[in-house]
Amino acid sequence: MLIGCHLSSSGGFMAMGKQASSIDANVFQFFTRNPRGGAAKEIDPKDASDFCDYMKEHQFGKILAHAPYTLNPCGKEARVRDFARLVMEDDFRRMEYVPHQLYNFHPGSHVGQGVEEGIRLISGLLNELLFPEMTTTVLLETMSGKGSEVGGKFEELREIIDRTTLSDKLGVCLDTCHVHDAGYDIVNDLDGVLDEFDRVVGLSRLKAIHLNDSMNPFASHKDRHEKIGAGSLGLEAITRIICHPKLKDLPFYLETPQDVAGYGEEIAVLRRLQRENLP
Ligand code: FE
Ligand code: FE
Ligand code: ZN
Repeated sequence: MLIGCHLSSSGGFMAMGKQASSIDANVFQFFTRNPRGGAAKEIDPKDASDFCDYMKEHQFGKILAHAPYTLNPCGKEARVRDFARLVMEDDFRRMEYVPHQLYNFHPGSHVGQGVEEGIRLISGLLNELLFPEMTTTVLLETMSGKGSEVGGKFEELREIIDRTTLSDKLGVCLDTCHVHDAGYDIVNDLDGVLDEFDRVVGLSRLKAIHLNDSMNPFASHKDRHEKIGAGSLGLEAITRIICHPKLKDLPFYLETPQDVAGYGEEIAVLRRLQRENLP
């Protein structure tokens, strides 16, 4: 099972790899820079190449870089969109120090411009920034649809992908809290939701799962993560998710409100649940 959690990137790649191993994780997620944006520390090439070796030795799955939350590729002001461009361009360059990994971003909020204009701006930015030689797969995250967020519906993700020329570089990261809050009933009809995802986006695009419980009820369009089993998804639904034949081999990244020790406990529980419940 490929499972891990969000870790602090302040100590570099090797520090994250060792911290992951210490809690029996074999993948992890990290922010490419301060989550509120700003300058990133330059990558240490030695740390990156040591980590590439470490990943092989310890049979890690793909690591997932997360763009800053404040990034808005479909903001109304040019200044906001320019910031998104600068950050993502720099992130894509830095990702190549650890090739063939995953990069996740929130499609953004159209802030009253309309979802069509949002989609046009997001795919426009991807068309500027994706380059043929890049080895990173860029993931659009499924969102809860709060405010003017783009990506609360599978159709919106599909349209961004359709309008992006180098769409072979694109995939989707499904956040279990977000899709539940968006109104996809993964608690009572997981098969139905996955069929819908397959029909609209295509399951081959699904590259990662953000595994979170939710503090809010179904279709609340809220987005507050809860600890595994303590929210409106519950442990049974989460067990069905990690054991589903179409999901069980994907990497799972926890973004629950936990410290590192707490993540370790969740990972142990989830590994045991998958082992006991897989046919
Ligand atoms: Fe996210
Ligand atoms: Fe997420
Ligand atoms: Zn969230």
